[in-house]
Amino acid sequence: MKPASFDYHRPQTLDAALGLLARFGERAKPIAGGQSFGPMLNMRLARPEHLIDLNDLVELDFIRVSDAMLEVGAMTRHHRVATAPEVARSHPLLAAAAATIGHYAIRHRGTLGGSLAHADPAAQMPLVAVLGGARLVLHGLSGRREIAAGDFFKSVMTVDLAEGELVTSVLYPRLPINAGWAFELFSRRRGDFAVVAVAVLLTLDDAGRLGDLHVALGGVAPVPLRLDLSAVAPSGVIMEDTWIEAVSEFAAQSVAPEDTVQIPAVFRREVTAPLTQKALATALARSRKASA
Ligand SMILES: Cc1cc2nc3c(=O)[nH]c(=O)nc-3n(C[C@H](O)[C@H](O)[C@H](O)COP(=O)(O)OP(=O)(O)OC[C@H]3O[C@@H](n4cnc5c(N)ncnc54)[C@H](O)[C@@H]3O)c2cc1C
Repeated sequence: MKPASFDYHRPQTLDAALGLLARFGERAKPIAGGQSFGPMLNMRLARPEHLIDLNDLVELDFIRVSDAMLEVGAMTRHHRVATAPEVARSHPLLAAAAATIGHYAIRHRGTLGGSLAHADPAAQMPLVAVLGGARLVLHGLSGRREIAAGDFFKSVMTVDLAEGELVTSVLYPRLPINAGWAFELFSRRRGDFAVVAVAVLLTLDDAGRLGDLHVALGGVAPVPLRLDLSAVAPSGVIMEDTWIEAVSEFAAQSVAPEDTVQIPAVFRREVTAPLTQKALATALARSRKASA
């Protein structure tokens, strides 16, 4: 199918883009990499009268690293996030997750902001943002605001974005130098969206006991699910083999996926435990290596 007709606008600055969005209101939609919105237009699932193309907003294509934070502009392509040395150094989990998005061509077009605004429940970028306590920077005509990733995602493809607002960047706390991290996904074919994805971040103290542990799951709930692990993995716990099994089993019991046309819920739940186990073992090994 072909899209319904629309007026095409290609603003050169963020202010101009915000002005167009304010002028046309709900009749306008932004497009970034077009990897998700293009098919929606073609299938006429979206019929904006005005399409606001963000691809000339070079001011939103950046990676900045400070002592505590990594900031990535919304128009930064997945490929750049996956390969930039400054992301690898400050947030290797983000780089590793970006490298698993779709295929090479998709990563060269798709953007960080587009992925977050689209909010597919199985997408990598929302999962990493929620796990690592990232904050999204949004701009509208009334100004700038920040929102925690955990509050931004409301439901399947539904986010806390007001009419006329754009995602402009994401602020990620840098990973501690001795952090253990892992990103694992199971998909039907390489490059497909995840059936289940798991992201893990942990630190160990000097004695090798658990400091912090964060585990988040994608594909098993309407939004990325960050687990409350206080009952099974309190700080100071000694890492035994049985510990990894117990946390993985807890993860599987915590999810309540729904049946979809292609994937039964029971399958997603069955994949969750072994995938979490693999991610925890990888993160633990990385943290031990970094602390050695
Ligand atoms: C075959 C295929 C496989 C894929 N596999 C994966 C995968 O494994 N994992 C994954 O995560 N994604 C996957 N994708 C999607 C891809 O990553 C997209 O790039 C991403 O979902 C959206 O980014 P985009 O820049 O293309 O956004 P677009 O498609 O341009 O826009 C998506 C939505 O976000 C809005 N939007 C865009 N930018 C902004 C902004 N700055 N502020 C506010 N709203 C904005 C648009 O209005 C639209 O509603 C796949 C796509 C294809 C075609």
